[in-house]
Amino acid sequence: MSGQYSRILETFRSEGRLRSLPPVRAHTCLDYSSNDYMGIAVNSDLNRNFIATLNSEVQFTSSASRLLSGAQKEHIALEQWLGQAYSKSALLFNSGYHANVGCVSALATQGTAIIADKLIHASIIDGLKLSGASFRRFKHNDIISLQREVRKVYAEAERVLVIVESIYSMDGDEAPLREIVALKREFPKILVYVDEAHALGVRGLKGLGLCEEVDLLSEVDVLIGTFGKAVGSMGAFVVTSAELKEYLLNTARSFIFSTALPPVNVAYTHYVLKALTGMQAERQHLAELSYKFREGLEHLTGTPCISRSQIVPLMAGSNERALTLSAKLKENDILALPIRRPTVAVGTERLRFSLSAAMSLSDIEMTLDKLAIVLN
Ligand code: PMP
Repeated sequence: MSGQYSRILETFRSEGRLRSLPPVRAHTCLDYSSNDYMGIAVNSDLNRNFIATLNSEVQFTSSASRLLSGAQKEHIALEQWLGQAYSKSALLFNSGYHANVGCVSALATQGTAIIADKLIHASIIDGLKLSGASFRRFKHNDIISLQREVRKVYAEAERVLVIVESIYSMDGDEAPLREIVALKREFPKILVYVDEAHALGVRGLKGLGLCEEVDLLSEVDVLIGTFGKAVGSMGAFVVTSAELKEYLLNTARSFIFSTALPPVNVAYTHYVLKALTGMQAERQHLAELSYKFREGLEHLTGTPCISRSQIVPLMAGSNERALTLSAKLKENDILALPIRRPTVAVGTERLRFSLSAAMSLSDIEMTLDKLAIVLN
């Protein structure tokens, strides 16, 4: 291998941040590493019932981009369902990564000033980088900092795109959506872009996400949902105005130049989303487990937990400590993965616990008991 590539790998190794592919997940562990928040992947009844709906005509590939011959009845049906659920127009993407890279880079036109939360997901950053547009960041979840940034660009801009996640993937905290949307009264050129990757299925009466829960669906201009987490599937969508949908399907390159999702996968997503609308008891159960776990962690560490959701970080402070804590938990059949830089900032390395509605209260209690030992 070329010397430069080896040197880069050596730097990663010496800094304790060399990545490698882990072995297949051991299902004997209590698994806090997956984003299967609603236990869909392990819901054998649901999955068996879906399989029973299939027949030999099922298609495993779309064979083309949607704009060529890739559109199948499954894509149309799911977009119609999403459009109705959100009272907007929906467009499917192949993954959350595709959706953010495609939508953000397409929306970042010359007249658009972009202001993104400091902790925004890598796929959004990549979309911004791809567009070549300059963009500003505001202090995480800090509405004053956002306001300050808006003021700096407002007069010159044709529109101001404010980009946030509803639940942040590494901290599990919530964006101040009400305050963000309220800024539109003072600054009507603002468009609000919300990535609901970690809230879809989990929050809201019908599981449509945090914007549904706080009754802001009609105020959010661009809403992204991903199917690889609580929906237990693969793919993503944007819901927005009919005009922006048309704009995105004409300009989002990750939509235009990629084979559409397989119809069998889209049919599965549709099946699960419909089921999720009725899973309020499971959402409530997950909220209770999350509350108990956060409360237990606060008690163990003596520090307040920033999370308000099913994603709960345990701060380790360094790559090494995160690795050690994770290994010790693994010895106790608990799988919680270390999150290291560059995914998170130096000094905020952590274990990320992602809870699932398939867990029980005794799972949470057992984990807290083991943590009490491991943390000493
Ligand atoms: N947005 C956020 C906030 C995410 O956390 C992720 C995945 N970690 C994505 C988008 C990408 O979604 P996908 O895995 O479907 O590509």
